[in-house]
Amino acid sequence: AAEEGFDAEDIEEALDEAGHGPLPALAVVGRPNVGKSTLVNRIIGRREAVVQDKPGVTRDRVTYEAEWAGRRFKVVDTGGWEQDVLGLDASVAAQAEFAIEAADAVVFVVDATVGATDTDEAVVRLLRRAGKPVVLAANKVDGMSGESDAAALWSLGLGEPFPISALHGRGTGDLLDEILKALPEAPAQRFGTTVGGPRRIALIGRPNVGKSSLLNQVAKEDRVVVNAQSGTTRDPVDELIELGGITWKFIDTAGIRRRVHLQEGADYYASLRTAAAVEKAEVAVVLIDTSESISVQDQRIITMAVEAGRALVIAYNKWDTLDEERRYYLEREIETEMQQVAWAPRVNVSALTGRHMEKLVPAIETALAGWETRVPTGRLNAFLGELVAGHPHPIRGGKQPRILFGTQAGTKPPRFVLFASGFIEAGYRRFIERRLREEFGFDGTPIHISVRVRE
Ligand code: GDP
Ligand code: GDP
Repeated sequence: AAEEGFDAEDIEEALDEAGHGPLPALAVVGRPNVGKSTLVNRIIGRREAVVQDKPGVTRDRVTYEAEWAGRRFKVVDTGGWEQDVLGLDASVAAQAEFAIEAADAVVFVVDATVGATDTDEAVVRLLRRAGKPVVLAANKVDGMSGESDAAALWSLGLGEPFPISALHGRGTGDLLDEILKALPEAPAQRFGTTVGGPRRIALIGRPNVGKSSLLNQVAKEDRVVVNAQSGTTRDPVDELIELGGITWKFIDTAGIRRRVHLQEGADYYASLRTAAAVEKAEVAVVLIDTSESISVQDQRIITMAVEAGRALVIAYNKWDTLDEERRYYLEREIETEMQQVAWAPRVNVSALTGRHMEKLVPAIETALAGWETRVPTGRLNAFLGELVAGHPHPIRGGKQPRILFGTQAGTKPPRFVLFASGFIEAGYRRFIERRLREEFGFDGTPIHISVRVRE
């Protein structure tokens, strides 16, 4: 439909771009100092994005968006090392394991100037077991003379080693071409094939908020569904739990139950684990410890779930510890600190006493329903027409930009494309989002709105 200056091709292109759904994820794994972070920087094309970490320095951010040859994907970086915490081999293995779990394909980075080490061999075994597509990057091949070092890595049995210099960019284009061949168009194994299976919940939050207690509480009150093929399950870390008559899959419960008390420097490790769980989940239940102030770390965890486009429920835990005064300040904190996710269903619970546990499932269901909502084009445009007539965009430079029409490009989470006659200001976009939420619900889900302007 050639509607008001947009032709069919414009519209289709806009829908394609906005409707991409969850992006496939690429994990970059390997030993410390082989050049993973340098390679991630090159792949995402933003030098400042990944800080050159000193060992032990906390880093929260582990996933980035990248684009190559017109295809978009996520990159999971495992460059934030915490060798001291578990010892070299164990931390390489654990980090690689989370990253591989969260990914659709893996780049395994080896330092060609060093050659394959025992630790590299251990990662190869992990990769074999995971069965995901692997591209082998032989890094630090800065010149022709390193090519034979790269060739020696055929011995790892992972196929052709791609000689690259992450630092100088040599060979990285070919590597990226190969990566695109290995990556599926969409994150199939986490979204496509499990349709109709149990809904997937990630229980997340910073250490000691009560994740393990909450899991025990729900598993106690209801039933832990014993897996029929127990022992042969591919994902022993996930657990099926029946709640409110429905079977749910709780992601990475092993990580929640296994209460490893890692001392300092465990934050990055926890972030990676959280990111992996969020990747695999449809809905994130973020626990907040109400006996303490809401922290930056709580907000980062929420941001992780929102940026990943997952449905969101916020569980304010340890409600039993609140006295009147603390409760008063908590509500003020929630108003100011949690404003950006005011749309998320909220439950005030106590994992200790079991308070309001029965409210958890309805909240999760609300969030998932919002996440999957599709607004018919007719209704959307009737709504937009009224909104624009009642509250026109402010006049700028003698012109009045108008929203001409809109359509929903996708769900999980809902994504909209609005077509406009001129630049639409951020404030007006926020206004539209607010009104969309008021009109159509979208409780518990981030929504994406992109605006196309007529040329
Ligand atoms: P990570 O621990 O695996 O993330 O490794 P980094 O990306 O932090 O790199 C470790 C060191 O190797 C840094 O000093 C990098 O500058 C260096 N490095 C990374 N890639 C290359 C490369 O292609 N050639 C050379 N010569 N050095 C590199
Ligand atoms: P996790 O690290 O997030 O898994 O947290 P845990 O479940 O291990 O809980 C950390 C501490 O908080 C433990 O001492 C729990 O007993 C306590 N805790 C967890 N939930 C509650 C709650 O609702 N009320 C109170 N008072 N304590 C709680």
